[in-house]
Amino acid sequence: MAGEGVPAVTFQGVCRHFGEVRAVDEVSFSIADGEFFSMLGPSGSGKTTCLRLIAGFERPDRGHIQVHGVNVEGVPPFDRDVNTVFQDYALFPHMSVGENVEYGLMIRKVPRAERRKRAEEMLGLVKLDGLYARRPGQLSGGQRQRVALARALINRPRVLLLDEPLGALDLKLREAMQAELKTIQRQVGITFVYVTHDQGEALSMSDRLAVFNHGRIEQIGAPAEVYDHPATQFVAGFVGQTNLLEGYLAQRLGGFPASYAVRPERIRILPAEAEVPPGFASIDGRVSAVTYLGANSRVEVEVDEGGRLQVVEQNVEGGMAMEGRAPGTAVRLVIERRHIQAVSESR
Ligand code: ATP
Repeated sequence: MAGEGVPAVTFQGVCRHFGEVRAVDEVSFSIADGEFFSMLGPSGSGKTTCLRLIAGFERPDRGHIQVHGVNVEGVPPFDRDVNTVFQDYALFPHMSVGENVEYGLMIRKVPRAERRKRAEEMLGLVKLDGLYARRPGQLSGGQRQRVALARALINRPRVLLLDEPLGALDLKLREAMQAELKTIQRQVGITFVYVTHDQGEALSMSDRLAVFNHGRIEQIGAPAEVYDHPATQFVAGFVGQTNLLEGYLAQRLGGFPASYAVRPERIRILPAEAEVPPGFASIDGRVSAVTYLGANSRVEVEVDEGGRLQVVEQNVEGGMAMEGRAPGTAVRLVIERRHIQAVSESR
Protein backbone atom coordinates (compact mmCIF):
# COMPACT_ATOMS: atom_id res chain seq x y z
CA MET A 1 0.00 0.00 0.00
CA ALA A 2 1.03 3.56 -0.58
CA GLY A 3 2.86 5.03 2.40
CA GLU A 4 2.07 8.26 4.21
CA GLY A 5 5.63 9.56 4.47
CA VAL A 6 7.84 11.37 1.97
CA PRO A 7 6.42 11.13 -1.57
CA ALA A 8 8.31 8.97 -4.07
CA VAL A 9 8.11 11.67 -6.75
CA THR A 10 7.05 15.32 -6.63
CA PHE A 11 6.65 17.77 -9.54
CA GLN A 12 6.21 21.45 -8.72
CA GLY A 13 5.29 23.72 -11.62
CA VAL A 14 7.40 21.71 -14.07
CA CYS A 15 7.69 22.91 -17.68
CA ARG A 16 9.53 21.31 -20.59
CA HIS A 17 9.05 23.02 -23.94
CA PHE A 18 10.57 22.04 -27.28
CA GLY A 19 10.48 25.25 -29.31
CA GLU A 20 6.79 26.02 -29.74
CA VAL A 21 5.66 22.67 -28.34
CA ARG A 22 4.69 22.77 -24.68
CA ALA A 23 5.34 19.09 -24.03
CA VAL A 24 4.98 19.54 -20.27
CA ASP A 25 3.32 22.75 -19.16
CA GLU A 26 3.17 23.78 -15.47
CA VAL A 27 2.68 20.28 -14.16
CA SER A 28 2.44 19.62 -10.41
CA PHE A 29 1.68 16.31 -8.71
CA SER A 30 3.00 14.00 -6.12
CA ILE A 31 3.25 10.20 -6.10
CA ALA A 32 3.15 8.34 -2.78
CA ASP A 33 5.79 5.79 -1.86
CA GLY A 34 4.61 2.34 -2.96
CA GLU A 35 1.85 3.69 -5.19
CA PHE A 36 0.89 2.34 -8.61
CA PHE A 37 0.50 5.66 -10.42
CA SER A 38 -0.49 5.91 -14.09
CA MET A 39 -0.07 8.75 -16.52
CA LEU A 40 -2.87 8.44 -19.03
CA GLY A 41 -3.45 10.55 -22.12
CA PRO A 42 -3.51 10.60 -25.91
CA SER A 43 -0.40 10.51 -28.06
CA GLY A 44 1.67 13.67 -27.67
CA SER A 45 0.09 14.76 -24.37
CA GLY A 46 3.40 14.80 -22.47
CA LYS A 47 3.40 11.51 -20.56
CA THR A 48 6.72 10.18 -21.84
CA THR A 49 8.39 13.54 -21.34
CA CYS A 50 7.28 13.46 -17.67
CA LEU A 51 8.75 9.98 -17.32
CA ARG A 52 12.01 11.09 -18.93
CA LEU A 53 12.13 14.05 -16.54
CA ILE A 54 11.87 11.66 -13.58
CA ALA A 55 14.52 9.37 -15.07
CA GLY A 56 16.84 12.32 -15.76
CA PHE A 57 16.93 11.94 -19.56
CA GLU A 58 15.32 15.38 -19.80
CA ARG A 59 15.74 18.50 -17.69
CA PRO A 60 12.90 20.86 -16.78
CA ASP A 61 13.00 24.39 -18.21
CA ARG A 62 11.20 25.50 -15.08
CA GLY A 63 9.96 24.00 -11.82
CA HIS A 64 11.32 21.40 -9.44
CA ILE A 65 11.38 17.62 -9.30
CA GLN A 66 12.05 15.62 -6.17
CA VAL A 67 12.59 11.88 -5.89
CA HIS A 68 12.14 10.63 -2.34
CA GLY A 69 12.43 14.14 -1.01
CA VAL A 70 15.70 14.92 -2.80
CA ASN A 71 15.84 17.65 -5.42
CA VAL A 72 17.22 15.83 -8.48
CA GLU A 73 18.28 18.91 -10.41
CA GLY A 74 21.63 18.10 -12.02
CA VAL A 75 21.61 14.47 -10.81
CA PRO A 76 22.46 12.21 -13.80
CA PRO A 77 20.16 9.28 -14.65
CA PHE A 78 22.47 6.58 -13.26
CA ASP A 79 22.61 8.30 -9.87
CA ARG A 80 18.85 8.38 -9.47
CA ASP A 81 17.14 5.59 -7.57
CA VAL A 82 14.87 4.84 -10.54
CA ASN A 83 14.83 2.33 -13.37
CA THR A 84 12.91 2.29 -16.66
CA VAL A 85 11.14 -0.45 -18.62
CA PHE A 86 10.66 0.53 -22.25
CA GLN A 87 8.01 -0.67 -24.67
CA ASP A 88 10.59 -2.21 -27.00
CA TYR A 89 12.18 -4.09 -24.05
CA ALA A 90 15.72 -3.03 -25.13
CA LEU A 91 17.16 -6.48 -24.35
CA PHE A 92 20.67 -7.46 -25.48
CA PRO A 93 20.11 -10.10 -28.18
CA HIS A 94 23.55 -11.71 -27.88
CA MET A 95 23.18 -12.36 -24.15
CA SER A 96 21.11 -15.08 -22.49
CA VAL A 97 17.95 -14.22 -20.59
CA GLY A 98 19.84 -14.64 -17.31
CA GLU A 99 22.71 -12.41 -18.40
CA ASN A 100 20.25 -9.76 -19.48
CA VAL A 101 18.57 -9.87 -16.08
CA GLU A 102 21.92 -9.78 -14.24
CA TYR A 103 23.33 -6.95 -16.29
CA GLY A 104 22.72 -4.21 -13.72
CA LEU A 105 24.41 -6.26 -11.03
CA MET A 106 27.40 -6.98 -13.26
CA ILE A 107 27.90 -3.25 -13.79
CA ARG A 108 27.87 -2.83 -10.03
CA LYS A 109 30.43 -5.66 -9.71
CA VAL A 110 28.23 -7.96 -7.64
CA PRO A 111 29.97 -11.41 -7.42
CA ARG A 112 28.89 -14.01 -9.96
CA ALA A 113 27.23 -16.48 -7.53
CA GLU A 114 25.15 -13.73 -5.93
CA ARG A 115 24.16 -12.41 -9.38
CA ARG A 116 23.00 -15.82 -10.48
CA LYS A 117 20.98 -16.35 -7.32
CA ARG A 118 19.22 -13.01 -7.61
CA ALA A 119 18.58 -13.46 -11.34
CA GLU A 120 16.95 -16.85 -10.67
CA GLU A 121 14.81 -15.22 -7.98
CA MET A 122 13.71 -12.47 -10.35
CA LEU A 123 12.93 -14.98 -13.10
CA GLY A 124 10.78 -16.82 -10.56
CA LEU A 125 8.97 -13.59 -9.70
CA VAL A 126 8.06 -12.97 -13.35
CA LYS A 127 7.24 -16.67 -13.93
CA LEU A 128 10.14 -17.47 -16.21
CA ASP A 129 11.73 -20.16 -14.04
CA GLY A 130 14.09 -22.38 -16.01
CA LEU A 131 14.63 -19.95 -18.91
CA TYR A 132 17.95 -18.56 -17.70
CA ALA A 133 19.97 -19.91 -20.62
CA ARG A 134 17.62 -18.96 -23.47
CA ARG A 135 18.28 -16.10 -25.85
CA PRO A 136 15.72 -13.24 -26.07
CA GLY A 137 15.15 -14.22 -29.73
CA GLN A 138 13.78 -17.58 -28.56
CA LEU A 139 11.06 -16.02 -26.42
CA SER A 140 7.54 -14.80 -27.10
CA GLY A 141 6.70 -11.08 -26.84
CA GLY A 142 5.11 -11.57 -23.43
CA GLN A 143 8.14 -13.47 -22.15
CA ARG A 144 10.53 -10.80 -23.43
CA GLN A 145 8.43 -8.23 -21.62
CA ARG A 146 8.87 -10.19 -18.38
CA VAL A 147 12.65 -10.38 -18.89
CA ALA A 148 12.73 -6.60 -19.26
CA LEU A 149 10.74 -6.29 -16.04
CA ALA A 150 13.03 -8.71 -14.16
CA ARG A 151 16.06 -6.81 -15.43
CA ALA A 152 14.65 -3.51 -14.18
CA LEU A 153 13.61 -4.91 -10.80
CA ILE A 154 16.86 -6.70 -9.97
CA ASN A 155 18.54 -3.44 -9.01
CA ARG A 156 15.77 -2.94 -6.46
CA PRO A 157 15.07 0.64 -7.55
CA ARG A 158 12.74 2.59 -5.29
CA VAL A 159 10.81 3.83 -8.31
CA LEU A 160 10.14 1.88 -11.50
CA LEU A 161 9.16 3.81 -14.62
CA LEU A 162 7.21 1.88 -17.24
CA ASP A 163 6.59 3.40 -20.68
CA GLU A 164 3.73 1.57 -22.43
CA PRO A 165 5.37 -1.74 -21.44
CA LEU A 166 2.47 -3.83 -22.79
CA GLY A 167 2.02 -1.87 -26.00
CA ALA A 168 3.43 -4.58 -28.26
CA LEU A 169 1.30 -7.43 -26.89
CA ASP A 170 -2.01 -8.71 -28.20
CA LEU A 171 -5.16 -8.02 -26.21
CA LYS A 172 -5.43 -11.34 -24.32
CA LEU A 173 -1.79 -11.34 -23.27
CA ARG A 174 -2.00 -7.69 -22.41
CA GLU A 175 -4.89 -8.30 -20.04
CA ALA A 176 -3.12 -11.24 -18.41
CA MET A 177 0.05 -9.18 -17.98
CA GLN A 178 -1.91 -6.27 -16.50
CA ALA A 179 -3.10 -8.48 -13.66
CA GLU A 180 0.39 -9.91 -13.19
CA LEU A 181 2.10 -6.54 -13.17
CA LYS A 182 -0.24 -5.36 -10.47
CA THR A 183 0.46 -8.51 -8.40
CA ILE A 184 4.22 -8.14 -8.83
CA GLN A 185 4.03 -4.48 -7.85
CA ARG A 186 2.24 -5.43 -4.62
CA GLN A 187 4.80 -8.15 -3.90
CA VAL A 188 7.86 -5.95 -4.36
CA GLY A 189 6.26 -2.80 -2.88
CA ILE A 190 8.13 -0.55 -5.34
CA THR A 191 6.50 2.66 -6.63
CA PHE A 192 5.40 2.09 -10.25
CA VAL A 193 4.93 5.06 -12.58
CA TYR A 194 3.12 3.71 -15.59
CA VAL A 195 2.60 5.51 -18.90
CA THR A 196 -0.27 4.40 -21.11
CA HIS A 197 -2.80 5.75 -23.60
CA ASP A 198 -5.13 2.84 -22.77
CA GLN A 199 -7.78 3.96 -20.32
CA GLY A 200 -8.84 0.38 -19.49
CA GLU A 201 -5.30 -0.42 -18.49
CA ALA A 202 -4.99 2.68 -16.31
CA LEU A 203 -8.36 2.06 -14.63
CA SER A 204 -7.66 -1.60 -13.88
CA MET A 205 -4.15 -1.31 -12.47
CA SER A 206 -3.66 2.05 -10.81
CA ASP A 207 -4.05 3.24 -7.26
CA ARG A 208 -4.34 6.70 -8.81
CA LEU A 209 -4.04 8.07 -12.31
CA ALA A 210 -3.28 11.45 -13.85
CA VAL A 211 -5.09 12.34 -17.09
CA PHE A 212 -2.87 14.35 -19.46
CA ASN A 213 -3.98 16.63 -22.27
CA HIS A 214 -1.73 19.03 -24.20
CA GLY A 215 1.08 18.87 -21.65
CA ARG A 216 -1.19 19.51 -18.69
CA ILE A 217 -2.89 17.35 -16.11
CA GLU A 218 -6.67 17.66 -16.29
CA GLN A 219 -7.42 15.45 -13.31
CA ILE A 220 -5.71 13.20 -10.77
CA GLY A 221 -7.61 10.64 -8.72
CA ALA A 222 -8.41 7.04 -7.95
CA PRO A 223 -9.88 5.16 -10.94
CA ALA A 224 -13.50 5.22 -9.73
CA GLU A 225 -13.20 8.88 -8.77
CA VAL A 226 -12.00 9.86 -12.25
CA TYR A 227 -14.57 7.66 -13.98
CA ASP A 228 -17.55 8.68 -11.83
CA HIS A 229 -16.62 12.33 -11.37
CA PRO A 230 -14.71 13.45 -14.46
CA ALA A 231 -13.63 17.03 -13.87
CA THR A 232 -13.56 18.16 -17.49
CA GLN A 233 -15.18 17.40 -20.84
CA PHE A 234 -11.91 15.93 -22.03
CA VAL A 235 -11.60 13.51 -19.11
CA ALA A 236 -15.24 12.45 -19.49
CA GLY A 237 -14.64 11.64 -23.16
CA PHE A 238 -11.18 10.08 -22.86
CA VAL A 239 -11.78 7.85 -19.83
CA GLY A 240 -14.66 5.60 -20.88
CA GLN A 241 -17.61 6.48 -23.07
CA THR A 242 -19.82 9.40 -22.24
CA ASN A 243 -22.84 11.42 -23.29
CA LEU A 244 -21.90 15.08 -23.19
CA LEU A 245 -25.00 17.14 -22.47
CA GLU A 246 -25.12 20.70 -23.67
CA GLY A 247 -27.80 23.21 -24.61
CA TYR A 248 -31.33 21.91 -24.22
CA LEU A 249 -30.34 18.49 -22.86
CA ALA A 250 -28.09 20.07 -20.21
CA GLN A 251 -30.79 22.47 -19.10
CA ARG A 252 -33.43 19.76 -19.04
CA LEU A 253 -31.47 16.99 -17.28
CA GLY A 254 -28.90 18.95 -15.27
CA GLY A 255 -30.98 22.01 -14.46
CA PHE A 256 -28.52 24.64 -15.73
CA PRO A 257 -27.27 25.75 -19.14
CA ALA A 258 -23.87 24.19 -18.37
CA SER A 259 -22.11 21.01 -19.55
CA TYR A 260 -22.80 17.63 -18.03
CA ALA A 261 -21.52 14.11 -18.63
CA VAL A 262 -23.60 10.96 -18.25
CA ARG A 263 -22.16 7.46 -18.67
CA PRO A 264 -24.19 5.36 -21.13
CA GLU A 265 -24.56 2.49 -18.63
CA ARG A 266 -26.13 4.83 -16.06
CA ILE A 267 -29.17 5.52 -18.26
CA ARG A 268 -32.08 3.12 -18.00
CA ILE A 269 -34.62 2.55 -20.72
CA LEU A 270 -38.23 2.28 -19.56
CA PRO A 271 -41.39 1.92 -21.63
CA ALA A 272 -42.96 5.21 -22.78
CA GLU A 273 -45.09 6.85 -20.06
CA ALA A 274 -43.50 4.70 -17.30
CA GLU A 275 -43.45 6.24 -13.84
CA VAL A 276 -40.23 8.10 -13.02
CA PRO A 277 -38.64 6.83 -9.78
CA PRO A 278 -37.85 9.45 -7.12
CA GLY A 279 -34.37 10.98 -7.47
CA PHE A 280 -34.31 10.34 -11.22
CA ALA A 281 -34.42 12.74 -14.15
CA SER A 282 -36.29 11.60 -17.25
CA ILE A 283 -36.52 12.37 -20.91
CA ASP A 284 -38.54 10.85 -23.74
CA GLY A 285 -37.42 9.73 -27.16
CA ARG A 286 -37.35 6.98 -29.74
CA VAL A 287 -34.84 4.21 -30.34
CA SER A 288 -32.88 5.05 -33.47
CA ALA A 289 -30.30 2.24 -33.58
CA VAL A 290 -29.14 -0.82 -31.65
CA THR A 291 -25.66 -2.31 -31.86
CA TYR A 292 -25.04 -5.79 -30.48
CA LEU A 293 -21.67 -5.98 -28.71
CA GLY A 294 -21.77 -9.43 -27.13
CA ALA A 295 -21.78 -8.70 -23.41
CA ASN A 296 -23.65 -5.44 -23.97
CA SER A 297 -25.81 -3.67 -26.49
CA ARG A 298 -25.54 -0.01 -27.35
CA VAL A 299 -28.89 1.63 -27.89
CA GLU A 300 -29.10 5.04 -29.48
CA VAL A 301 -32.10 7.16 -28.59
CA GLU A 302 -33.24 10.23 -30.49
CA VAL A 303 -34.67 12.63 -27.93
CA ASP A 304 -38.08 14.09 -28.90
CA GLU A 305 -36.96 17.69 -28.44
CA GLY A 306 -33.71 17.11 -30.31
CA GLY A 307 -30.37 15.54 -29.46
CA ARG A 308 -29.23 11.99 -29.06
CA LEU A 309 -28.25 9.79 -26.11
CA GLN A 310 -26.32 6.53 -26.06
CA VAL A 311 -27.37 3.87 -23.60
CA VAL A 312 -25.43 0.70 -22.84
CA GLU A 313 -27.41 -2.24 -21.56
CA GLN A 314 -26.03 -5.53 -20.30
CA ASN A 315 -27.25 -8.55 -22.25
CA VAL A 316 -28.41 -10.49 -19.22
CA GLU A 317 -30.91 -12.59 -21.16
CA GLY A 318 -28.47 -13.67 -23.87
CA GLY A 319 -29.15 -13.61 -27.58
CA MET A 320 -29.98 -10.43 -29.43
CA ALA A 321 -32.99 -9.54 -27.28
CA MET A 322 -34.66 -6.73 -29.18
CA GLU A 323 -37.93 -6.53 -27.30
CA GLY A 324 -38.85 -2.90 -26.80
CA ARG A 325 -35.66 -1.85 -28.58
CA ALA A 326 -36.70 -1.95 -32.22
CA PRO A 327 -35.84 1.28 -34.04
CA GLY A 328 -38.77 3.67 -33.83
CA THR A 329 -40.01 2.41 -30.44
CA ALA A 330 -41.01 5.22 -28.07
CA VAL A 331 -39.12 5.00 -24.76
CA ARG A 332 -38.59 6.94 -21.56
CA LEU A 333 -35.02 7.32 -20.37
CA VAL A 334 -34.38 7.74 -16.66
CA ILE A 335 -31.12 8.73 -14.99
CA GLU A 336 -30.37 8.92 -11.30
CA ARG A 337 -29.55 12.59 -10.68
CA ARG A 338 -26.25 11.84 -8.94
CA HIS A 339 -25.00 10.33 -12.21
CA ILE A 340 -25.47 13.58 -14.10
CA GLN A 341 -22.04 15.03 -13.62
CA ALA A 342 -21.24 18.71 -14.21
CA VAL A 343 -18.00 19.02 -16.22
CA SER A 344 -15.95 22.12 -16.98
CA GLU A 345 -14.24 22.90 -20.26
CA SER A 346 -10.71 21.58 -20.60
CA ARG A 347 -8.15 23.77 -18.91
P1 ATP B 1 3.00 9.02 -26.94
O1 ATP B 1 1.86 8.31 -26.24
O2 ATP B 1 2.79 9.14 -28.41
O3 ATP B 1 4.35 8.51 -26.55
P2 ATP B 1 3.28 11.21 -25.05
O4 ATP B 1 2.03 11.62 -24.35
O5 ATP B 1 4.22 10.35 -24.30
O6 ATP B 1 2.92 10.56 -26.45
P3 ATP B 1 5.51 12.99 -25.38
O7 ATP B 1 6.37 11.95 -26.01
O8 ATP B 1 5.82 13.37 -23.99
O9 ATP B 1 4.00 12.57 -25.47
O10 ATP B 1 5.54 14.29 -26.32
C1 ATP B 1 4.86 15.48 -26.00
C2 ATP B 1 5.07 16.48 -27.12
O11 ATP B 1 6.44 16.89 -27.13
C3 ATP B 1 4.80 15.92 -28.51
O12 ATP B 1 4.21 16.95 -29.27
C4 ATP B 1 6.18 15.58 -29.03
O13 ATP B 1 6.22 15.67 -30.43
C5 ATP B 1 7.02 16.66 -28.38
N1 ATP B 1 8.42 16.20 -28.14
C6 ATP B 1 8.80 15.21 -27.29
N2 ATP B 1 10.13 15.06 -27.28
C7 ATP B 1 10.62 15.98 -28.16
C8 ATP B 1 11.94 16.35 -28.60
N3 ATP B 1 13.01 15.73 -28.14
N4 ATP B 1 12.04 17.34 -29.51
C9 ATP B 1 10.95 18.00 -29.95
N5 ATP B 1 9.69 17.70 -29.59
C10 ATP B 1 9.52 16.72 -28.71
